Amino acid sequence: MSEQNFDIVVLGGGSGGYAAALRASELGFSVALIEKDKVGGTCLHRGCIPTKALLHSAEVADSARESAKYGVVAQLEGIDLAAVTKYREGVVAKKYKGLQGLVKARGITVVEGEGRLVAPKTVRVGDVDYVGQNVVLATGSYSRSLPGLEIGGRVITSEQALQLDFVPKKVAVLGGGVIGVEFASVWKSFGAEVSIIEALPHLVPNEDESISKSLERAFRRRGIDFRLGIRFQGVTQNDDGVVVSLENGDTVDADLLLVAVGRGPVTTGLGFEEAGVTIDRGFVITDERLRTGVDGVYAVGDIVPGLQLAHRGFQQGIFVAEEIAGLNPIIVEDVNVPKVTYCEPEVASIGLSQAKAEAQYGAENVTSYDYSLAGNGKSEILGTTGSVKVVRVNDGPVVGVHMIGARVGELIGEAQLAVNWEAYPEDIAPFIHAHPTQNESLGEAFLYLAGKPLHTL
Ligand SMILES: Cc1cc2nc3c(=O)[nH]c(=O)nc-3n(C[C@H](O)[C@H](O)[C@H](O)COP(=O)(O)OP(=O)(O)OC[C@H]3O[C@@H](n4cnc5c(N)ncnc54)[C@H](O)[C@@H]3O)c2cc1C
Repeated sequence: MSEQNFDIVVLGGGSGGYAAALRASELGFSVALIEKDKVGGTCLHRGCIPTKALLHSAEVADSARESAKYGVVAQLEGIDLAAVTKYREGVVAKKYKGLQGLVKARGITVVEGEGRLVAPKTVRVGDVDYVGQNVVLATGSYSRSLPGLEIGGRVITSEQALQLDFVPKKVAVLGGGVIGVEFASVWKSFGAEVSIIEALPHLVPNEDESISKSLERAFRRRGIDFRLGIRFQGVTQNDDGVVVSLENGDTVDADLLLVAVGRGPVTTGLGFEEAGVTIDRGFVITDERLRTGVDGVYAVGDIVPGLQLAHRGFQQGIFVAEEIAGLNPIIVEDVNVPKVTYCEPEVASIGLSQAKAEAQYGAENVTSYDYSLAGNGKSEILGTTGSVKVVRVNDGPVVGVHMIGARVGELIGEAQLAVNWEAYPEDIAPFIHAHPTQNESLGEAFLYLAGKPLHTL
């Protein structure tokens, strides 16, 4: 057994781990980044990037389908999935190459192999112990299933869904959360019949209820079938397809069942508990500064309970590197992390839903304004409908923004600045939004809440 010493040893090279490594090296620390698969992790190779490339192909298919509406003579003749895959893999390959170059240029030692925490500050890979003054755990997450629901054959998770070399004719999606509605949206655009099964009363149940209802209307218009408040009972499969049975006695036939019921933390068998790290239902418990109970051992990303999003992982990785450097970085609570669901139409939000704002501040102290994209010139040009809802505390800041409509994910940057800077609508209403942009809809909502609506009454 040999030993190598570093200032910081990072276990897991996904969004959280590599961000910690990059920032730590920038701050002058020597860093080992241990990765058993590919640097970039779920987000780059099996998550955000490949799925958003698929969604872009889906958008192009929809544009072709609807081209006559815009006076363009074109016809959607079909989906060449091999070409879609080539495009998607090309995007991932470029980003992967760029990331590898960046990690190398920063002088980070990348260790290829599976690591295990064998002592609080020691990660063993093969017969080498990597000892850090500090250790960052960033082992990420995997697709969960339900008890008794075995993945295999025609019952797949997002990993296998990305590997498909055909577009299913009929597909059932278990789970109406982010991953479920994104794949449902892609497959529908590619011409499949899609049924979503969701046990909770709404699609994207973590969003403001008004947004969930708008998405349900939009999906209904698109012909995406969904069953809400109904629990899954079981599934059988044979050479022809799957039959999904529901607790209300209904059945759904399909070629495939996508199981999209959430992601579990990768922490089993990695020595975390033996080293004294507190684990609860598989997640690593930390304080608000991402410290585990063990001195010098931090955790970031999907293994830390809360939102499982790549940019939360980046922020936590940066945070921990700066914390170790004594820079006292600010904490961004999960509620103030922007969330985007990239289905068609897109959903984007930040901060408190109206219901949560009312629970926190009292209903009489909260005002919200729902600006319809029907009033927004650029949205009309794009042929999208939807809304931008801004929630404020009376005589106080903007505490939530909730949006739905094509491309609204691109508006979340301004929304997150307003919420995180605790801006008052009166402060930001005077600033200018370029015309015609969808950004103007946020401006209109701020103007309204500042008591000076422009294009609304
Ligand atoms: C289909 C899908 C779509 C998604 N879309 C989005 C999106 O649009 N936007 C968004 O923000 N988020 C999205 N996510 C979520 C995002 O991918 C995750 O939140 C993010 O990847 C979490 O980063 P992480 O560093 O915690 O973990 P991961 O990215 O999972 O990285 C963990 C890394 O650790 C490595 N590892 C694990 N154990 C060991 C070990 N013992 N030794 C060495 N290496 C190890 C793994 O190989 C992996 O590379 C999506 C996820 C999925 C599945």
